[in-house]
Amino acid sequence: MIRVAVAGAAGRMGETVCSAVDGAEDMQLVGRADPLLGIGLADVLGDTDAGVQVVVDFTQPETALANALACLDAGVHVVLGTTGFDLQALHDAAFTQTEPRANVLVAPNFAIGAVLMMRFAAEAAKHMAKAEIIELHHDRKLDAPSGTAARTAQLMAAASDKPEPPIHSVRLPGLVANQEVILGDLAQTLTIRHDTIGRESFMPGVLLGVRGVGSLPEPLVVGLENLLF
Ligand code: NAP
Repeated sequence: MIRVAVAGAAGRMGETVCSAVDGAEDMQLVGRADPLLGIGLADVLGDTDAGVQVVVDFTQPETALANALACLDAGVHVVLGTTGFDLQALHDAAFTQTEPRANVLVAPNFAIGAVLMMRFAAEAAKHMAKAEIIELHHDRKLDAPSGTAARTAQLMAAASDKPEPPIHSVRLPGLVANQEVILGDLAQTLTIRHDTIGRESFMPGVLLGVRGVGSLPEPLVVGLENLLF
């Protein structure tokens, strides 16, 4: 059994993750941290009875870094879904740990379809002249552009040797998470689109991350594709 705690457990994603972990036969939910519950991550990490092995973080851009650093200090693996903050400090901390090390899996998007969209967009960018990205999310999302759009742009630039495509962000009630990559060339366009209609879409990827984070080849890995392909 993998002993899992969730940071941001009372949030939109966190609640869904708690249910998914509860329903997984090979996992046990041993901790839930969230200001709304009055439980800090330090309390959860310090609970020796709980014996947390993996923390799943879906909090906020301004708290996720401190949470992840606290996990590394405690020797606990992290599956990090929170987007919108600079990963450099976390990268530095992860790669300068003494043994035994803890690992971090960062995934800007845990939905399998979104990972495929990024892969197809990177491939298409090699062959089409120009591209633009439109990302559309619910109006309570704190960061813009989305982590998925930023990652898509990076992957497309790396695959094609072209500049990163521009990103347009839409925030509206009624949306969950959607992204369109439009590529244009002489007398033709190609559109690659992914739509998330419920937060359950992220859960198979999150559970895959929880199962895989302990055996990553490096202490910090970005992208669920590293466990999928
Ligand atoms: P949310 O509903 O605002 O949930 C965040 C929760 O974290 C809130 O309950 C918040 O409490 C709590 N929190 C804040 N600081 C904390 C801390 N230090 N320790 C523990 N909990 C803390 O947000 P959401 O919609 O679930 O999204 C969370 C993050 O996941 C966002 O960055 C979003 O972009 C990202 N996301 C990623 C994916 C992916 O596939 N990677 C998918 C969807 C969303 P308070 O409200 O009291 O501050």
